[in-house]
Amino acid sequence: MSLLDHTHNPDALSFVATANLAEADFPLQNLPYGLFRRAGSNESARVGIAIGDQILDLRLAASAGRWSSAVQVLLQPLADGDLNSFMAQTAAKRRLLRHALFDALAEGSKQQPALTACLLPQAQAQMAVPCRIGDYTDFYTGIHHATTVGKLFRPDNPLLPNYKWVPIGYHGRSSSIGVGGLGSTVRRPLGQLMPPGAEAPVRAACKRLDHELELGLFVAGGNPLGEPIPMTEADEQMFGVTLLNDWSARDMQGWEYQPLGPFLAKNFATTISPWIVSMDALEPFRIAFAHPASDPQPLPYLDSDKNRSEGGYEIELEVWLQTETMRAAGEPATRLMRSNFKHAYWTLAQMLTHHASNGCNLQPGDLLGTGTQSGPEAIEGGSMLELSMGGKQSLSLPTARPAASWPTATASACMPMPLGKAPAASGLANARPRWSPRRCCNNVVKWGGF
Ligand code: MN
Repeated sequence: MSLLDHTHNPDALSFVATANLAEADFPLQNLPYGLFRRAGSNESARVGIAIGDQILDLRLAASAGRWSSAVQVLLQPLADGDLNSFMAQTAAKRRLLRHALFDALAEGSKQQPALTACLLPQAQAQMAVPCRIGDYTDFYTGIHHATTVGKLFRPDNPLLPNYKWVPIGYHGRSSSIGVGGLGSTVRRPLGQLMPPGAEAPVRAACKRLDHELELGLFVAGGNPLGEPIPMTEADEQMFGVTLLNDWSARDMQGWEYQPLGPFLAKNFATTISPWIVSMDALEPFRIAFAHPASDPQPLPYLDSDKNRSEGGYEIELEVWLQTETMRAAGEPATRLMRSNFKHAYWTLAQMLTHHASNGCNLQPGDLLGTGTQSGPEAIEGGSMLELSMGGKQSLSLPTARPAASWPTATASACMPMPLGKAPAASGLANARPRWSPRRCCNNVVKWGGF
């Protein structure tokens, strides 16, 4: 059953004028959740909704707006800065709030005078990690990434035989998850490196600090210990999506990763976007999903009619780079690559169901990374590791600056997330595709120097 409704109408406009611009990151149809305080203040953080270049402050809106009693109950934890409690609500209740906010922020809303006073320009907000992330798991669903990276490490055997049967993942670290944004810095880690040809490792600063372009899925209600989440209930347990940068120290990784997988090469930093786009907002971007006919088909516990008919999501992804030199010269960021989440080998629902399939309990606010989302072409690599073929190939930036295979200068990676257009199946095929924000999940981070 389609969950598309009037909140997905691409022609709907907001009384916040910047939400109606053709290239708006945060149109009325998006309404993502973030945690913020006014920059420079020591106020307690509260949840806000991005709309145009503004944030609707839900603490102010909870008292100034006119809401039904059911909506008022949902707003209270958000006003107190507690997104997790809201994430744990049923999908129907989460949708109820989306509808209330959509109506309240729409053009012609009676709430306009009251809510205008609850808006803060995003430029004046300091964003924080949007919820309490108890556990973080990183999957490996980008088959093109897995194949390219596998070739670098194992030329004869790039894709291990389990890949097409099991959604591969590992447990990450939540304490070092930070929020991306201008001014956010990742410190280049120290670690054990085994220089090529050397007989003993050295401890030094990582020289191959890399990014990984991923989506992050936030868990909604979750499941009690011992009780799996079947595929038919997976959608209910998905709250929303963010962009995730899985910072990776490649030289440390190459030395330490066997036999137990990623450790210090990954856990020094993970950055996510300040905004979580709800699954409801992503409803128009669903697509059919299937493994190629020549591949193993998912085992029954990872299969469902809905997953086949609309388990995929068509989400365009990009990585942009602006080096320190470029910034100093006033040159804009340049796009490093472009890909699409539709290439993922496993769906969000399959990741969530597989994770809980042994009875492992997922909790509200848990974060599941999708793994690096590279496209099928070599130029669509979602990391420097791929784009530079393990450092063997130089990357040319279009600005004619000296090519850098591994940026050693301070740089920033920015991942805009254009969300495509309303597909024909939405019944809005002839409508103007307004829902194409360029940076609705912006994830900008400065790479710290030595
Ligand atoms: Mn990763």
